[in-house]
Amino acid sequence: MTVAHATPVASQRHGAHFDAAESWSRDAIEAYQLQALRAQLQRVGAESHYYRATFARAGFEAGDLQSLDDLARLPFTRKADYVATITPENPYGAFMCAPQAAVRRMHFSSGTTAAPSPQFWSARDLDRWAALYARNAHAQGVRAGDVFQCMFTYTWFVGGLGATAGYQKAGALVIPAGSQDTERQIATMFAYGTTAFCATPSFALHLAEEVARRGRNPADAGVRTIMVGGEPGASVRATRARIEEAWGARCYDAYGCLEFQPIAADCEAQEGLHLAEDFSYAEVVDAESGTPVPDGQPGVLVLTHLDKEAGPLVRWWTGDMVVRERKPCACGRTHARLLGGVLGRADDMLVVRGVNVFPSAIEELVRTMPALTDEYRIVIDDSVRDAAGFLKAIRLQVEAADGPEAGDALAQRVRSRLGVHAVVEVLAPGTLERSTHKARRLIRQ
Ligand SMILES: [Zn+2]
Repeated sequence: MTVAHATPVASQRHGAHFDAAESWSRDAIEAYQLQALRAQLQRVGAESHYYRATFARAGFEAGDLQSLDDLARLPFTRKADYVATITPENPYGAFMCAPQAAVRRMHFSSGTTAAPSPQFWSARDLDRWAALYARNAHAQGVRAGDVFQCMFTYTWFVGGLGATAGYQKAGALVIPAGSQDTERQIATMFAYGTTAFCATPSFALHLAEEVARRGRNPADAGVRTIMVGGEPGASVRATRARIEEAWGARCYDAYGCLEFQPIAADCEAQEGLHLAEDFSYAEVVDAESGTPVPDGQPGVLVLTHLDKEAGPLVRWWTGDMVVRERKPCACGRTHARLLGGVLGRADDMLVVRGVNVFPSAIEELVRTMPALTDEYRIVIDDSVRDAAGFLKAIRLQVEAADGPEAGDALAQRVRSRLGVHAVVEVLAPGTLERSTHKARRLIRQ
């Protein structure tokens, strides 16, 4: 297995940044992407069964790629396309681009909507993954001497091992703690002087609650840096504020999915997540028409691997709604940013009497109200649908000690800020289940 094109050096410190690639000019980024894509499509079109057939159907040859825009001649690859190639006889599917002997790791999708499907990494893919993760950790202030408690799940989830390898490479002492056993997490944190940790936003808040319940102040733990991922959260300003306040630490968002590890992460400026533009080529497109949307407007993120060896994807429909910004960041990095992180899944966008509402906008409102706890649910059932099945309102479940008043106040804010009607049910604090992994807060019935 050989890769014909050059790849950026991902292990040398460059000024304040981890890699020289982080401050390439826009022209240099695009020139790199074009030459990398040409080589990648050449290989993918020859070696992946799925893309060989797709290229043929589209009448596309790798040599046809004269500009980055030419990539749009190829169709999107959706999760359903991927899953359809996986059969009991061929559990590896049709996207593999490397001999099996060159594959070093397989992770699986969570399988919440379909049977778990695998993704693959070669040795070089794993090195690249760790180096990009280290870049992100460095951008968030992690250095040698930090003690990093990794509270992402390890079993069947892609997050734990990825963060471990990346933070080790960034210089930290890593404690692979997983997301179970709250008692031991807290004891470890205080005993070993954890200075940085990662967790889902839900678990970061849950843990702070649990530390406080034991009569200690989470801010006394000495944690300076918190990286959260796995759910939209840190980019919801109010959630970030709650996590930062509880722990007395800076909270940074990270975004990845099984298929692309990692995609983007906050830098110290916390003004949007930098895409790794030397790892994947990003398009932002209209959810319905699939045509590009301008920077600054929401659209679905579509990604293409620039150099992945084992299971590369072309025009992968992430299903995540984002807003891209290509103006340089205050930190000096030039890679494009996703403002506000992931706004939500395109599928989770609620249309209430013609108004688009993302669950993250509800979260922002819930978590800016001191009377409410961090936990909430958005329930979509027949009580808020009209006869034709369209939404006329949303139903919210929240927790507060003072009952109806908080509910009325929230309903009023949803109406004034988002322009939709909310039916709010106020429960006693502690009623809604807390999540240590990925929380599911949008319930469709
Ligand atoms: Zn930045």
